[in-house]
Formats: sequence, C-alpha cells, structure tokens
Amino acid sequence: MDLKQYVTTVENWPKEGISFKDITTIMDNGPAYKYATDEIVKYAKEVGAEIIVGPEARGFIIGCPVAYALEIGFAPVRKPGKLPREVISADYGLEYGTDTLTMHNDAVKPGQKVLICDDLLATGGTVEATVRLIEQLGGEVVGAAFIIELTELKGRNKIGTVPIKTLIQY
Ligand code: 5GP
Repeated sequence: MDLKQYVTTVENWPKEGISFKDITTIMDNGPAYKYATDEIVKYAKEVGAEIIVGPEARGFIIGCPVAYALEIGFAPVRKPGKLPREVISADYGLEYGTDTLTMHNDAVKPGQKVLICDDLLATGGTVEATVRLIEQLGGEVVGAAFIIELTELKGRNKIGTVPIKTLIQY
C-alpha cells in the first residue's frame, strides 16, 4: 500500500514556516491504519519486543494497537503532572528552551526488551529522551518505529545504535 497518499500536509501549522504532517487521515481510514499497524507489528516481532513504549499523544495512537496485536503491554511516556504514581524524568532541548518527559518508575522491568513507537521522527529529541527514560529503568531498547521520518532533520543520528524503522520518508 502507498501509505503516503493518506498523509495530509498542512502548511504553516502550528506556526508560520512549519509543514505539518497530519496522520489523522491515516487513522480515519480503516485499511490504511491497519496497514501501518501491521507493518510495525512485523517489525516488533523481528526485534523481539516484549513491551511497547509510546510518547503522548500520537505515540499512543500507533503504539497501543501494536501492543494489542502482539498481546504485550504498553507503557505511556507523558508530560509532567499527568502520571499518578512515582515517576522518573528526562529533559530534552527544544528550539527555544527545554521540555520534560516522564514515565512511571516501574513501567519497564530491568532487562525487558522495549520497542518505542511514535507517529513521526523529526529532530529525534523526543525519542532520545524516551531512550534515556527506558535505560534508566534498566530496559533494553531493541528498536524505535515511526510512521513518518523527516530525513533532513537527521533525528536518527541522535539515538546512535538503536535500530530504527520508518514507513514513509520525506
Ligand atoms: P522530534 O522530537 O523528533 O523533533 O519530534 C517528534 C515529535 O513531535 C513526535 O512526538 C511527533 O508526534 C511530533 N511532531 C513533530 N512534527 C510533527 C509533524 O509534522 N506531524 C506530526 N504528526 N507530529 C509531529
């Protein structure tokens, strides 16, 4: 399937100069959403994932159906103040300033093989911070899977040795 035809590019959103890749037009199409999910499920099997970790919010959209299909667990990565129990945190740089991601401190077990799922790889800041959270808990990141990769931003260089799977490249 040519998944790219289901991505909608929205110019100058959320601000001037940004060409936003909208994946809601993949999700609202049953066969396209299933195809994207199935491709990542195949990859998750290849790398032997034992749990899926996904950053809010679009990481849930792709990570949860993958976990369901494999009958394995899903652990959310969230912005501060959203998770109810004890968390660990990782800061990461934005264009202006920094942001923080958190995970429950028992979400991943030591030695567990983790696949990170998100909709899009841009600068790699989100996935790099997510790798740090998982490794802090003793998890082994066996891969990171995305529907879309913006190749010019070279996000994959940020997570060096972690194997990366992307379904569409721009
Ligand atoms: P990064 O941290 O790699 O620079 O940015 C990736 C994160 O920002 C992902 O969690 C993704 O959901 C979000 N993101 C950045 N740009 C876009 C975009 O054009 N489309 C979508 N759907 N998400 C984006």
